[in-house]
Amino acid sequence: MKEVRVRFAPSPTGPLHIGGVRTALYNYLFARLHHGKFLLRIEDTDQSRFVPGAEEYIIEALNWCGIHYDEGVGKGGPYAPYRQSERKEIYKQYAEQLITEGKAYYAFDTPEDLDKMRERIKDKGNAMAQYDAFTRGQMVNSLTLSALETQQRLNSGEPYVIRILIPENEEIVVNDLIRGKVMVDSSRLDDKVLFKSDGMPTYHLANIVDDHLMKISHVIRGEEWLPSAPLHILLYNYFGWEPPVFAHLPLLLKPDGNGKLSKRDGDRLGFPVFPLRWTDPSTGEVSSGYREAGYLPEAFINMLALLGWNPGTEQEIFSMQELIQAFSMEKVGKSGSKFDPEKAKWFNHFYLSQ
Ligand code: GLU
Repeated sequence: MKEVRVRFAPSPTGPLHIGGVRTALYNYLFARLHHGKFLLRIEDTDQSRFVPGAEEYIIEALNWCGIHYDEGVGKGGPYAPYRQSERKEIYKQYAEQLITEGKAYYAFDTPEDLDKMRERIKDKGNAMAQYDAFTRGQMVNSLTLSALETQQRLNSGEPYVIRILIPENEEIVVNDLIRGKVMVDSSRLDDKVLFKSDGMPTYHLANIVDDHLMKISHVIRGEEWLPSAPLHILLYNYFGWEPPVFAHLPLLLKPDGNGKLSKRDGDRLGFPVFPLRWTDPSTGEVSSGYREAGYLPEAFINMLALLGWNPGTEQEIFSMQELIQAFSMEKVGKSGSKFDPEKAKWFNHFYLSQ
């Protein structure tokens, strides 16, 4: 196996939820197990969702948990900077490369144009309104405009986005360590925006470019990103880059098993869903954290490790060192794990009594 390099890549849109901590933990365990590197990359290209204090919170939470990273924001490393807003100059050339090669195009549609397109499609009974092979020919983009008009619009500073050109009827295969082979027909994907006229890439472009440049070998992330994986594979193919190995982790579910454990569930159901207390900077609303509730980080980590992974034995108590030795991706389950607040208390009592 080539050098293992994994990353935790949160967006600073709020405090880190325990599901995010578990993703970071599994990345960390995997890196340590394989004597590889674990990176922290901050994905802050969506300026409209930026929350002050979130990045500091993420770093403090990882420190409290004992999930130490080798490279990343606040630490540096050979692929610095690790904060995407500071890498903004890097992405544009990749978007332009795709345009030159006919794999992406400029689109000038206004929000009203897009609304109208959605209406038209809905009228035809198609619930999945998307910018794709069927609609792109009716929109305002460099595929429908002449080269001259496209250039004039760009020169005059008209707002635009760069969209990926999704091929028709191509089978895209995602090989996932947890889910196996996932096959998707490219015609089900839409021409996602890769780059915006504010000079910022979207998540999809920045994520792929950085994983490639930072030599990431395995992408271990939450299942909510599985639907994006075919697009990511396609981008790797378009660039001619070898894709990393993917592993999409099962969701953390509410205690009753009804749906994903959300940021709002915590205090509503009487237990924290955040590692540390968080005060929302705009509303002043306070959400409780495990640290302030008197939990030891060892108990918190032990409890989280077993939500989705099982050692295949009866053993329940694991130190971080024991987790590193016992962890394997093959023993991460496919189905969601119900969060059990009572079990969390049980772990903490155990560690407190030691
Ligand atoms: N920035 C994404 C997030 O907030 C990262 C997803 C990924 O790991 O690719 O979760």
